[in-house]
Amino acid sequence: MATVEKGELTLLGEQTVVLAIHGGAGVERASMTPESETKARAAMELALRHGYEQLKQGRSAKDAVTAAITVLEDDPLFNAGRGAVFTHDGRNELDASLMDGATLAAGAVAGVHKVKNPILLARAVMEHSQHVMLAGDGAEQFAAEQGVSLVDPSYFRTERRWQELQRALQEENHQAQATREAIKHFGTVGAVARDSQGRLAAGTSTGGMTNKRYGRVGDSPVIGAGTYADVDCAVSGTGWGEYYLRVSAAREICLRMGRLGESATQAGRAVIEDEIPGMGGDGGAIVLGANGEVALPFNTEGMYRGWIGADGVPHVAIYATDALTLPTASR
Ligand code: ASP
Repeated sequence: MATVEKGELTLLGEQTVVLAIHGGAGVERASMTPESETKARAAMELALRHGYEQLKQGRSAKDAVTAAITVLEDDPLFNAGRGAVFTHDGRNELDASLMDGATLAAGAVAGVHKVKNPILLARAVMEHSQHVMLAGDGAEQFAAEQGVSLVDPSYFRTERRWQELQRALQEENHQAQATREAIKHFGTVGAVARDSQGRLAAGTSTGGMTNKRYGRVGDSPVIGAGTYADVDCAVSGTGWGEYYLRVSAAREICLRMGRLGESATQAGRAVIEDEIPGMGGDGGAIVLGANGEVALPFNTEGMYRGWIGADGVPHVAIYATDALTLPTASR
């Protein structure tokens, strides 16, 4: 990142703040329109600005991550919160997780269907329970106790996602080898941040995969698979969750950085461009190093992605062919 001599950085203290987000690695150019591209870019910029606001005010990396993810969960475009995909039997089951790299505190929720912003419940689990993960009815009971907003499940019933399920069900009926086609992932959201005190945090929120089985839990709420943060790195993944689970993708990236000394770019590539596709999976991740380096690797046609640094200017991209300059190490 370019050295900033005046402005926000001086107000922020010793460390250059940075926030990166993703909105899922399942982008298919054929299903996009100029209008949907514009909307996605605007939504990502809004999320980056909201997260940055927290950092600018000197709040923590976990505040920035939570703020950015909440914006994306409220936008029906993404497969998290409002725009969550449907299970095979026509329900929405949402998963989310959050990790504070400075303390290794973590919180996660799985299979909730009435929680408006699952990332806020993950945070409540982290900060106000003895546990790391709560699932289903117990998670929702805890949400009610904590004053986390609950909505009627119909809040998550968007027409676009319903039609996606109908198409997936038809494909399943007509194709002998339907598994890969029918289980699609689009638009999971995530964020990683470094605050002015150099603390890192990561979070992820999703509706999972279209046509998933009732009760299926993917990588997104699993600490170490979809989300991980420590003093060396912060990672949020998006992709075919079963593969991310098997390789503990997020922690694998962090271990490569912390123990092997790999850069965010090297570690991200090894897992996302090598290990996961090598097993037959696909997807991407956002990776932030303690030194401020950002890597946004993916092995699909596109990944909604962006970042914002000390100057407060959001940078976003969608397709693999889009140019996006990333922050390199800033200390
Ligand atoms: N990883 C998510 C899951 O498997 C899906 C996604 O990232 O799009 O539930």
